[in-house]
Amino acid sequence: MKKKKSKSKNLVLFTLVFLAIMISLFILNKATDKSSGNIAFDNQPTLENQPVLGKSDAKVSIVEFGDYKCPACKAWGEQIFPRLTKDYIDTGKVKFSYRNVTFHGEESMLASIAAESVFAQDPQAYWTFHKEVFKAQPPEQSHDDAWITTEKLLGIAKSYIPQIDLQKLEEDIKNQTTLPQVNQDISLGEEFNVQNTPSIIVNGTMVADPFNYDNLVAIIEQGLGGE
Ligand code: CA
Repeated sequence: MKKKKSKSKNLVLFTLVFLAIMISLFILNKATDKSSGNIAFDNQPTLENQPVLGKSDAKVSIVEFGDYKCPACKAWGEQIFPRLTKDYIDTGKVKFSYRNVTFHGEESMLASIAAESVFAQDPQAYWTFHKEVFKAQPPEQSHDDAWITTEKLLGIAKSYIPQIDLQKLEEDIKNQTTLPQVNQDISLGEEFNVQNTPSIIVNGTMVADPFNYDNLVAIIEQGLGGE
């Protein structure tokens, strides 16, 4: 009888210790999630009918949700994107796509429609145009001033993608021919709860800080599976 009692006492003690360990592990785990801040989704943005850089069979896909009028997007394109290109896109490990977000209103919309129109007319010309529109963005302190106009966009096209049919591009911008494509990007951004630009999704994971290259690399490497 006495022995039995001490046995059940041990069992209670063991259960308590076990529970305490499980709870602390759970708390620790939560904290780790919180500290990385990366958000994992069940699915990932499709690249279908989108501009894509890199090898089509690359194992990891990265999608940037960006806005032509956003200074942080320009900075990301200058600071992080070249490293990403050199380390992962040019080496065939990552394919990269861009989706339009129009948080800055009318001008964002205008540039997005122009970029989608260039893509529809000549997919090869898209990335050059995309890069040059960001380059044309004035310094951060004056980024709220209006600078994206149809004339400006046509000027960029004329200088950097001379193969484009300028008259058709002008008509497409004026008629908002590619509005459905832009709206599709906006809906996708809402689906992935994009709150800031740039937002970077690696496979199905939105990175906490797009400017933290080490974190970006860690998620890419995870996707490559130690390749
Ligand atoms: Ca698009």
